[in-house]
This record gives sequence, structure tokens and C-alpha cells, in this order.
Amino acid sequence: MPDRPPSSGSARRADRGARRALRRSSPRSLTADCALFLDIDGTLLDLAATPDRVRVDADIAALLPALAATLGGAIALITGRAIADVDRLFPGLCMPVAGQHGCERRAADRTLHHHAPAPAGIERLRAEIGELVARHPGLLLEDKGSTLALHYRRAPHLAGHVHRTVRAHLASAIAEGATLRLQTGKGIVEVRPDGRDKGTAVLEYMAEAPFAGRMPVFVGDDRTDEYGFAAALRTGGWGVKVGPGRTNAHFRLPDVAAVRRWLGALAGAAGPRSFDHSPEST
Ligand SMILES: [Mg+2]
Repeated sequence: MPDRPPSSGSARRADRGARRALRRSSPRSLTADCALFLDIDGTLLDLAATPDRVRVDADIAALLPALAATLGGAIALITGRAIADVDRLFPGLCMPVAGQHGCERRAADRTLHHHAPAPAGIERLRAEIGELVARHPGLLLEDKGSTLALHYRRAPHLAGHVHRTVRAHLASAIAEGATLRLQTGKGIVEVRPDGRDKGTAVLEYMAEAPFAGRMPVFVGDDRTDEYGFAAALRTGGWGVKVGPGRTNAHFRLPDVAAVRRWLGALAGAAGPRSFDHSPEST
């Protein structure tokens, strides 16, 4: 085995150090040739005890259309929420949205794509998680159709029990042919179809107008967003992690307020506009 060049170890350490530093740094300014992919909870909106309690203010409702105007419509929300729930949060915008971790997706031309609407084994998990919730006040089961979300933010002392129980049920279901996998997050354990995630949604958008050919930028705060960061990197772009925690994103912003300031700098002079609601676009 050949000797390693004396400088390679220190070079690797320096490289690792540089990458770590980069992950702590604020992102570069956005430009109008970006394609912007944004998580919602913990990224655009502060987290709440339950998903229906998040507060949508006038600032964010105005910022999103302004960004769309600047980016030629190349902006999409990439979330664990269902699309119908996103439309309830942002009435009238009808933005491109990938919901349920990429299981459903509304393209820029309003085409709706439904992937894995009834993954094998989900009925069984729905019943088993439902029984767990019935035994423990403070837990909340959110049935989104293709995905199941078990929220324990109001009962943090149950975190260990929730994770162990859902993992055990899921392992048993997979052994019998279920095509599901676990997705953990902040105060939440989700069961979602295998093969769909936020990254697959980004790749699909990047193959379509008006996203194709642009520089993808993904912004998110939780573990599920790592799939989005990876997809952005794979297609020549970069990611921004919001808040603390390990990440493969290139950059970091501390909180929702910082994300809004950073996005607002791009929206800048562009005035708010509505997304195109004309019949020709449907
Ligand atoms: Mg989030």
C-alpha cells in the first residue's frame, strides 16, 4: 500500500473545517434566476403546538406573490402538509405546492399529480396509531391520506414511547409487505410511502417550466428537508438550513424572521401580484 502524501490528512481536515464553517454561514443573496423551494412550518411560519394553530400573517401572504413575480413563477412550497391544508393557510394564492412529502404535487400549470394515493399497509398503521392516540391524551393523529402524522408536541414526555411504538408497528407492517417508511421531525413521527420525499418533488419541478434551467435553492428546518437539500445540490443548486441541527445544506439562517428578511431582500422592489388565475392557465 503506497504511503499517503504527508499533506493529504491536513488537507482533508482543512476541507472538512471549511465545509463546517460554510454550514454555519449566512446564505448568499438570492437572484432572479433562482428556482425557490420553501418548506412552510418552521421555515416561513413559526411552529405551533398543533398544525392548525400556526399563524399566517399579512407579511408572508404578501411576500410569496412578490417573490413569484421576481422569479417568473419559479417558486414552490414543499411540505408535509396536504395541498388542501396549504390552500387553507394561503387562500387565493394557489401556488405550486408539493404536499405530503412529495406524494401529491400541483405543478405551475395547475396540473395535479397524485403519487401513491393508497400505499400498501397504510390502513393497518392508521388503526394502530389511532389506538395509541386514543390511549394518550395530548397525542394527535393527522390523517392526510397518503401519509399519517403523529404529533406529540403537546406531550413531549411521550416522545420515546411514541417513537418506539410507531417503529415497532411499522417494522411489523413492512415485514408483511407494507411499502411505507418512517419520517421523524420536530415533535412529529410520520409514516409515508416509500420512494416519495421532498427531493423527488424538487426533481420533478426542475424538469418543468418555469423551474427548468434555473438554480434550485431549497430552504427548510427539519430532517425531511435534507431530501430537498440533496436534490438541490444534485441539480446544481444549494440549500439553507433554518435553525440548529446537523445538515448537509450549504448555509444556515437562525429562524423564521431571518428567512423572511433574506427572502424579502429579493422580493425588494417587486410589487405583490397574484398567481395567474386565468382559465388559460388551468
Ligand atoms: Mg419544517
